[in-house]
Amino acid sequence: MNVVLLGIQGSGKGTQSDLLVEKYGLVHITTGGLFRQNIKQETRLGKIAKSFIDKGELVPDEYAFEIVSKALSSAKDGFILDGFPRNLEQTKFLLNKFEIDKVFLLELDDETAIERILARRQCKKCKKVYNILFQKPKVKNVCDICGGELILREDDNKKAICKRIEKFHHETEKVIKLFKEQSNFFSINATQSLSVISKEIISKIN
Ligand SMILES: [Zn+2]
Repeated sequence: MNVVLLGIQGSGKGTQSDLLVEKYGLVHITTGGLFRQNIKQETRLGKIAKSFIDKGELVPDEYAFEIVSKALSSAKDGFILDGFPRNLEQTKFLLNKFEIDKVFLLELDDETAIERILARRQCKKCKKVYNILFQKPKVKNVCDICGGELILREDDNKKAICKRIEKFHHETEKVIKLFKEQSNFFSINATQSLSVISKEIISKIN
């Protein structure tokens, strides 16, 4: 079972991925995670990726393809791809090389996404992320795990969030259109509760 999850930041892709990993034993693959892993292990691709990331540039598609291909090929029991593909080229590459069983778009309006992202708090010490709307710490502004102070991340200000959202729409509009033409595409209302969303996803998978 190979699944692609699309959605704006704040749509709950990470949470839904975790649930699917647990239920079906799929491997959760994000490009950010792959880059971090390759950089840490100092692989050839990791070194190349780092040279772009250090300059604040996006890793060019050819290297992203190579890193993603390797990870997808080794996920023998299936994968959940999250954050890839981001553009039309990446989508064509993916569909040419891999069998994709289901594509889910977690659909969320910009306003709700902004509200959810602004409700995020991160522990200053251990970096665990909370959300004061649905994943509150036991004590206000204190990390459950290490007792560290919870803060709003610097890049989670309204201006930066709006910029990221605009970029997402711009980049993924064509991706969504291409996937929509296929029979295995499902759009899910992401303003619903996490459990309703996961039930919908699971019913489409089964
Ligand atoms: Zn902490």
